[in-house]
Amino acid sequence: MATPEQRRTLVTEIPGPRSVKLHEQRSAAFAAGFGVTLPVFVAEAGGGIIVDVDGNHLIDLASGIAVTSVGASHPEVVAAVQTQVERFTHTCFMVTEYEAAVDVATTLNRLTPGDHEKRTGLFTTGAEAVENAIKIARTYTGRQAVVVLSHAYHGRTLLTMTMTAKNVPYKEGFGPFAPEVYRVPSPYAYRWTGDASNVAGEAFDQLVDVISTQIGAHNVAAIIAEPIQGEGGFIVPPEGYLPKVAAYARENGIVFIADEIQAGLGRTGRMFAVDHEGVVPDLITTAKALAGGMPLSAVTGRAEIMDAVAPGGLGGTYAANPVACAAAKAALEVIERDDLPAKARRIEEIARPRLEALVGPSSPVGEVRGRGAMLAMEFVERGTTIPAPDAARKVAAYANSHGVLTLTCGTYGNVIRLLPPLVIGEDLLSDALDVLEAGVASL
Ligand SMILES: *Cc1c(COP(=O)(O)O)cnc(C)c1O
Repeated sequence: MATPEQRRTLVTEIPGPRSVKLHEQRSAAFAAGFGVTLPVFVAEAGGGIIVDVDGNHLIDLASGIAVTSVGASHPEVVAAVQTQVERFTHTCFMVTEYEAAVDVATTLNRLTPGDHEKRTGLFTTGAEAVENAIKIARTYTGRQAVVVLSHAYHGRTLLTMTMTAKNVPYKEGFGPFAPEVYRVPSPYAYRWTGDASNVAGEAFDQLVDVISTQIGAHNVAAIIAEPIQGEGGFIVPPEGYLPKVAAYARENGIVFIADEIQAGLGRTGRMFAVDHEGVVPDLITTAKALAGGMPLSAVTGRAEIMDAVAPGGLGGTYAANPVACAAAKAALEVIERDDLPAKARRIEEIARPRLEALVGPSSPVGEVRGRGAMLAMEFVERGTTIPAPDAARKVAAYANSHGVLTLTCGTYGNVIRLLPPLVIGEDLLSDALDVLEAGVASL
């Protein structure tokens, strides 16, 4: 199947009649706890386009939540998957071994920051990678406490939803939560109530204060941070914060984990978001963009930490699934060979000035932030910093109904995030920005 035509065309309302009918069937069959951004059923997708079952061509500014950086049907990923499924779909990597898993581990060991000796473990979902990073850090340190940030998102399993900050919808009704998870303030500059010129310093001081007064540094197994907070609202830590935290962790024998599941693998214009400040984490979690749309996640880090867990302690039936590994091998090759981090920087070059032009004292857009192809607009009541989730929802709905798939995010639900596939064409991106601008103007 060829890549769909890379042009926005609407032939029905969004959602169209076929999608509406299918969505009714879905509601009768599928658990209501699964939300949906746009109730449109997909027929095919690739490049920067999603084609729905009514024949509409939508511009994809979501990438299935930062997953399809190489597009949703990259020919090399498709071919790798096809070849692998014909050979075998599964053996379980803990029963018998195969090369593709070793290839992916070797590539991640090379691509992640730092030239120390590394090991990688492969899993299935992002939450699983985060859980395993914590298991590894606890074994290595012999300590239990885990320090997380406000506005953090780390997943939906019991431990990772405990680590996630936002209650509704991620935690409401799902307690009791896992023990030994402690939260420190996120250096969210736009909403910082202290000294605006020293957000990194003040947030770091508060982290040290919480750890020393409430936990004891000698009890902390790991500090985990998203180098750009994703679900929380694309919060970029001010320069200096991550290096300080990494250095503090090192001085106190704490494992510093960068959760690069959303920001990693080229999305921010560097291979990893920590690369912007030269930070070398002890462990890095990756998932989303890793396997071109197939479910695969990884923990990569210092050999002595990774190897602390005895054989049998890590794994999972589908961990390092061979089809997902074949897809990852192809996706990683594309990311490197086609220099997708450079594509992400080019996307920022085109999109940021246009988004920033929307910010102003009487504008509903309070701030534009992010890096590379991970950009966001935060909506506020005009002339204030009061969150305006309705404005974000309206602009997203405007864009969706005009054939541009956008996602909202943020603790206050007032952020529109742009996560286009890194392979999106420049014309398509410009067209999507036209629609977003019109959406903001329509408020
Ligand atoms: C999406 C995400 C996760 C969870 O990944 P799943 O594959 O949904 O379990 C964890 N951390 C971050 C930063 C994420 O964006």
